[in-house]
Amino acid sequence: MKKVVKFGGSSLASAEQFMKVGNIIHADEDRKFVVPSAPGKRFDKDTKVTDMLYACYDLAEKNHDFTSEIAKIEKRYQEIIDGLKLDLDLSQEFDKIIDNFKKKAGTNYAASRGEYLNGIIMANYLGYEFVDPAEAIRFNEAGVFDAELTNILLAKRLEGVERAVIPGFYGAMADGKVVTFSRGGSDITGSIVAKAVKADVYENWTDVSGFLVADPRIIDKPQGIEMITYAELRELSYMGATVLHEDAIFPVRKAGIPINIKNTNAPQDEGTWIVGNTIQKSKYVITGIAGKKGFASINIEKDMMNAEIGFGRKVLQVFEEYGISFEHMPSGIDTLSVMVHQSEFEDKEQKILSGINKAVSPDSIEIQSDLALIAVVGRGMKATRGTAGRIFSALAHANVNVRMIDQGSSELNIIIGVDNDDFDTAIKAIYAIFVETRL
Ligand code: ASP
Repeated sequence: MKKVVKFGGSSLASAEQFMKVGNIIHADEDRKFVVPSAPGKRFDKDTKVTDMLYACYDLAEKNHDFTSEIAKIEKRYQEIIDGLKLDLDLSQEFDKIIDNFKKKAGTNYAASRGEYLNGIIMANYLGYEFVDPAEAIRFNEAGVFDAELTNILLAKRLEGVERAVIPGFYGAMADGKVVTFSRGGSDITGSIVAKAVKADVYENWTDVSGFLVADPRIIDKPQGIEMITYAELRELSYMGATVLHEDAIFPVRKAGIPINIKNTNAPQDEGTWIVGNTIQKSKYVITGIAGKKGFASINIEKDMMNAEIGFGRKVLQVFEEYGISFEHMPSGIDTLSVMVHQSEFEDKEQKILSGINKAVSPDSIEIQSDLALIAVVGRGMKATRGTAGRIFSALAHANVNVRMIDQGSSELNIIIGVDNDDFDTAIKAIYAIFVETRL
């Protein structure tokens, strides 16, 4: 068995956390490939090393003095080294970093040093080989991740390597210029490594015991999700469930490698399994609920709209021209609504409305703002009758006015639009009917 284990920033924020990680790795000899993040927050008001690096480079770029800022970063690493009683000196690495900052090596390079240095410490602590992802994780000249080439290069680089530490978050272009993924991108690196070494499992260690059925800021101590499919997870992450980077599932999903989300501070918890397919039923009819506020709906009415071929296309083209993506498009016979992110729409509102008027000459256009979308997701819904009925009766009892309904043809989710003000009440009502009453 071969496992790739990725540890997030809070799991590596201090020497004590490093020791927990060391124990976890030593407890299972299959944990052969380790992907570390940069040191994260040690306490609530603390600053992540990645953010310290961004701020420090900002000064360097403006030709300001950054001596004390870089010294603070060096101190954080030194505290970890001292706490772990390692015989390791990073001063030469820091000299090189300072030099490159002065040469304006770029924001991506600057941010990537957080993972790079933590990787050196981790490799030293574990006695594993250090593999710099700049050698094998490849971005093209436009800065876009090249999945295919990376898989070839990385598989080759790790061939015959028994155990290694590969820092997360970055790779490089063919000329060696460092490029990072978006924030939280070490999750993606873990997934890429898992695919390249054909791992049996990708364990993603963080500071929570996996995904929860609903947002704990809305529901008090929500139940955990034991198993979720990639498809379900896509729906929930899109709607705001944030434990894993959205893009992290693609490499392993294709390779059929399951992800296990685990808690560094509670390793005995099973966490959440993310799998391709399963015949295991989720505990409840629904797997999870997630949602987002801040949508607007543009409602267009025109007699005989149903007979006008190309009506929908012409409307959507207006949104496309202004670079606005639409979220949903529920329609009636003579009506059509387009739901968009309010913040994107606001600035271009009048231009879009006049564009629609010109394109399709509607009888009326009405706009609704401050809407929230809630996704109720579950592979179990397909086989269960009355799920939608239960959702809507729960919402009616909670006095929530439903503004929009959309059920995908996969029957994997039902999307409900409500007023922003009803968001919490609606989520509580749906959670109660499925989880608390266990229907
Ligand atoms: N250190 C990076 C960040 O803070 C990447 C990561 O932790 O995954 O976003």
